[in-house]
Amino acid sequence: MFKAIMIEKDETGYRANLKEVDESQLPAGDVTVRVSHSTLNYKDGLAITGKGPVVRKFPMVPGVDLVGTVEETSHPAYSVGDAVLLNGWGVGEGHWGGLAQKARLNGEWLVPLPSQFTPQQAMAIGTAGYTAMLCVLALERHGVTPDKGEILVTGAAGGVGSVAVSILSKLGYTVVGVSGRPEENAYIKRLGASEVLERSAFSSAGKPLARERWAGAVDVVGSHTLANVCAATQYRGVVTACGLAGGMDFPATVAPFILRGVTLVGIDSVMCPRAERLIAWQRLGTDLDIAKLNLITNEIGLAEAIPMATKLLDGQVRGRVVVDVNA
Ligand code: NAP
Repeated sequence: MFKAIMIEKDETGYRANLKEVDESQLPAGDVTVRVSHSTLNYKDGLAITGKGPVVRKFPMVPGVDLVGTVEETSHPAYSVGDAVLLNGWGVGEGHWGGLAQKARLNGEWLVPLPSQFTPQQAMAIGTAGYTAMLCVLALERHGVTPDKGEILVTGAAGGVGSVAVSILSKLGYTVVGVSGRPEENAYIKRLGASEVLERSAFSSAGKPLARERWAGAVDVVGSHTLANVCAATQYRGVVTACGLAGGMDFPATVAPFILRGVTLVGIDSVMCPRAERLIAWQRLGTDLDIAKLNLITNEIGLAEAIPMATKLLDGQVRGRVVVDVNA
């Protein structure tokens, strides 16, 4: 038996509880992992609370991220005892995920735990941090170098935002954060932002074009915020869009794209090809300051993940939440 958060949905409603599960119930897969840590991402918050249609099968163990040790394997790339991690691939949505002491998975989804990180640190990064790195890689791919100007990071006190600010500042970019929590401004500056702007300046309808300021941007918010960020992006600047914390809509005009040659890059971490994941994890190993990672992280036990999911969706969580599934 092992402990897992289990999401169930039936005529009595949608609920998440901590349960004891028999191993025979694990889904099919060629690698069984003894999980040590998982995390709480925005998507896990949606899954646990049922506030978004994330879970595609019931019962479901949530958790889009996990790290642990291979316990059984018939996959040629892995041996018993290997330290592995997983981000995405629909795990925690359509296949039982990481908020459990055990997981059975497709070996193709796994990535060896990079030697620079402890299991806790890998989960402090998690999908949020790996997505932040994908955004940085996209800015670089599109030619945004530190000399081009300021980079805007929205939702800067959240998971993706905190890691993005940390990486960009270590790489020498001038970073400006956006946050709706003035009490977190000092934290965002400690991560490396030179300035923090108030969320409300971005969250309602703006002009099709505004003063050109941003050389690049990492947006986790969507909706009017993304439209306003695009409108204030410099000629040939680059905006990476990875989130919908403020809404799924995109009430923008084409003006920034056709008059200023702005590039909007979509970022998806879930189905991102393995080769790019390996590059992202390798770059996290060199471009993320571990001291800042410690500043970003809070650790909780498995049962606490359920109430914490509501706090996360309410925007009350700073940085990243690591879940010790054995605590
Ligand atoms: P998170 O830790 O909850 O951070 C989100 C941050 O957004 C909050 O901390 C808050 O920052 C800000 N925010 C919250 N509600 C807002 C609102 N109504 N309007 C404006 N800003 C708001 O979540 P996360 O894990 O970083 O994820 C952020 C977003 O990225 C989510 O939408 C998530 O689904 C998405 N995401 C996408 C991918 C992908 O593959 N594309 C991967 C990971 C995450 P402040 O308090 O600082 O304002």
